[in-house]
Amino acid sequence: MFSYWEQESFSHYHHIVVGGGIVGLSLAIELSEQYASARILVLERALLPTGASTRNAGFACMGSATELLDDLTHTSEDDVVALFAQRKEGLELLRKRLGDERIGYRANGSYELISDKEKYAIDKLEYLNRLLMPVTGKPAFEEANGMQAQFGFARASVSTMVSQTCEGELHTGKMMRALTDMAIQKGIEIKTGASVASFDEEELRVVVTVEEHYRKEGWRLTCNTLSICTNAFTKSLLPTEDIVPGRGQVLITEPIKGLKFKGIFHFDKGYYYFREIDGRVLLGGGRNLDFETEETTEIALNQMIQDDLDDKLANMILPGVKVKVAQRWAGIMAFGSTKQPIVKPISDRVFGAYRMGGMGVALGSNVAARLAQVIKLQWP
Ligand SMILES: Cc1cc2nc3c(=O)[nH]c(=O)nc-3n(C[C@H](O)[C@H](O)[C@H](O)COP(=O)(O)OP(=O)(O)OC[C@H]3O[C@@H](n4cnc5c(N)ncnc54)[C@H](O)[C@@H]3O)c2cc1C
Repeated sequence: MFSYWEQESFSHYHHIVVGGGIVGLSLAIELSEQYASARILVLERALLPTGASTRNAGFACMGSATELLDDLTHTSEDDVVALFAQRKEGLELLRKRLGDERIGYRANGSYELISDKEKYAIDKLEYLNRLLMPVTGKPAFEEANGMQAQFGFARASVSTMVSQTCEGELHTGKMMRALTDMAIQKGIEIKTGASVASFDEEELRVVVTVEEHYRKEGWRLTCNTLSICTNAFTKSLLPTEDIVPGRGQVLITEPIKGLKFKGIFHFDKGYYYFREIDGRVLLGGGRNLDFETEETTEIALNQMIQDDLDDKLANMILPGVKVKVAQRWAGIMAFGSTKQPIVKPISDRVFGAYRMGGMGVALGSNVAARLAQVIKLQWP
């Protein structure tokens, strides 16, 4: 049952975005910049975005050497370079849009820890540099042997290091706060606790049904056009899409006195990553230890993976340093048969942008900008 006022003033929008993560918010901002007078609504199922955007590690990542070399075993050079370029453009757009200070962006550089069995990558750095040169304009990778001792990493597990010039780091909380504030400032409505159960296309509009505790029949909103930006959760609305969820887990330590490193670090083809933040170490990854269990949308911890992270922290990253873990959490990413994000019209009125893998921080703004170019807002 709806009141006349609810129906008149709160139920129709030019565009509705489902999903309030990096991609959904960036898309809403893009559209509001293109169509100043449009009524745009973002529907987010939880009180805060509850997928990956407020739960990630804040790496503005382009890909480590071993990860890109692994990608090249099953993806063409052109596709690998194109994805690298999208991440780079996305990061530039994010920084321009929000400003480095507001998002805590720092260009402390990134490093990859190379084990004995990964030394093959060192011989391929020149090839990677040549391949990526049209995007980077300068060599991106360089061996940085010796840095492992300076940073205090365990000699037994780290044979050498590779530095990368294109990556940076940011404060995920500040970035999402800034995106939300910008969206509100631009007049975009954001409704949280609004889980979209389904959508139906009619001739001149799309009807979006939102689950609502107080109205058993749900809220029926209408819009001229709709975007689905629900990443790992997309299959609940679009069951045939090529999306496989992948849980990511992280821990953060208490502040550590005399921490020897700053910047962001990867190892094992990007499956593990760590960084310094506020004098603490944030460490995540290990999904590859138990792919099957981690193919889930359940936000929970896997003890085996957490034990592995504890082990890597104590014996590889901070050998001989006493540390206490302050917090652990998980979030859900979206993968599929390729690493390319999906950005496409689903019909004349419905559009989608999802499958950001483990790189939506840098990629998200680019994907949103690309989708915004495809959407033509309509005034019936
Ligand atoms: C632990 C972890 C670490 C990561 N680290 C990094 C990193 O360092 N660098 C990097 O680039 N990437 C990282 N990622 C990946 C990155 O966070 C994601 O690629 C990115 O956040 C995806 O953004 P998104 O907006 O597409 O999806 P999401 O952030 O998942 O947003 C989708 C939103 O849709 C909402 N939603 C879903 N279904 C519905 C529905 N039916 N109705 C309404 N709302 C709905 C969800 O609640 C969610 O908030 C990490 C991810 C995790 C989990």
